[in-house]
Amino acid sequence: MAYLNENYLKLKAGYLFPEIARRVKAFTEANPEAAKRLIRCGIGDVTEALPEAVRAAMHKAVDEMGDRSSFRGYGPEQGYDFLRNAIANNDYKARGIQVDADEIFISDGSKCDTGNILDIFGCGNKIAITDPVYPVYVDTNVMAGNTGEADDAGAYAGLHYLKCTPENGFVPEIPSEPVDLVYLCYPNNPTGATATRAQLEAWVKYAKANGTIILYDAAYEAFIQDPEVPRSIFEIEGARDCAIEFRSFSKNGGFTGVRCAIVVIPKGLMGKKKDGTTMAVHPLWSRRHSTKFNGVSYIVQRGAEAIYSEEGKAQVAALIEHYMGNAKLLVEACKNAGLQVFGGVNAPYVWVGCPAGVTSWQMFDKMLNEANVVITPGSGFGSAGEGFFRISAFNSRANVEEVCKRIAALQA
Ligand SMILES: *Cc1c(COP(=O)(O)O)cnc(C)c1O
Repeated sequence: MAYLNENYLKLKAGYLFPEIARRVKAFTEANPEAAKRLIRCGIGDVTEALPEAVRAAMHKAVDEMGDRSSFRGYGPEQGYDFLRNAIANNDYKARGIQVDADEIFISDGSKCDTGNILDIFGCGNKIAITDPVYPVYVDTNVMAGNTGEADDAGAYAGLHYLKCTPENGFVPEIPSEPVDLVYLCYPNNPTGATATRAQLEAWVKYAKANGTIILYDAAYEAFIQDPEVPRSIFEIEGARDCAIEFRSFSKNGGFTGVRCAIVVIPKGLMGKKKDGTTMAVHPLWSRRHSTKFNGVSYIVQRGAEAIYSEEGKAQVAALIEHYMGNAKLLVEACKNAGLQVFGGVNAPYVWVGCPAGVTSWQMFDKMLNEANVVITPGSGFGSAGEGFFRISAFNSRANVEEVCKRIAALQA
């Protein structure tokens, strides 16, 4: 009989979203009338339709595939040049950032990329993650055998947790000891916080001094409104020597159901071998990507390319404006209700402090029962998330306006 990867048995049974679903189901069964007015502000999925420019480009690509003379089979695993060039020119060169097209890998999602990246790193690395955190970073390290067991609070032995609190603006302090890999995500899911240039400079300085690689998740960069806030880790001098960046079309282009994302690995980024010598990271990821992946569909890559057309840019800007308008309303409603509010300014998530003495799950139940609104309890993202809840701005305007009214009507 085949041995199993017992690292999977260390995983805390997918707790957060299944538990939310269980509580919502119980509520719906007990209150069928109230359930009809339920509004979901929980899961971070987009709600608005794909931009017209994207759809037109995908329709055209489908027709090309239907004609023998323009049909395409397997494409380059790393992605078509038309898309890699569009990304290099628009996301980087146009902003004065050095990233070459051949440092860009096209994939079917940042969730997979942030998990798969561990394939090219050896065992025994010291790994740091923020708390609260996007759970994928943690669970994929557990699966890869980079941790011990979880304690009662859900913290895994062997991981270095970096607390993110209102006091540090949800950007962790620089660790007092060296780590090999650190996951940073700004604008942040779940806190909606952004990192300033000075904060990212301090992280890059630390990484360069300690041989740390920063795994920078920029999935929400398109939501940044403040021109002073960096949109890429590569805006920071020296980051090309110490960072990998992940980007996705999921949240800006509404591609959560289409699937297309980006990994950027600078050619000069180095890792070390057991014998102490160094070598570049890029060829390993290139090999991994072309061995285990056969490329994103041509149709989808043409759709992603259209995001960089004039129409595409305008349509994406309108989507962002819609969601950030929602976020503004939610921030105001929570502030007016006397709640402590973070995020929602450069990110589509509003991170709200529970009233004194109320836990995240108690607040979840209160919002479900009294307001018939589903939110995400902060403690589901890590123990430092206790005492907070997340409201997603991914919704229709009508739903958000209704949620705001219900927040105003909540009993203290
Ligand atoms: C939504 C999200 C992504 C994007 O994931 P995809 O697999 O590209 O859809 C990446 N990181 C974070 C933190 C996210 O919330």
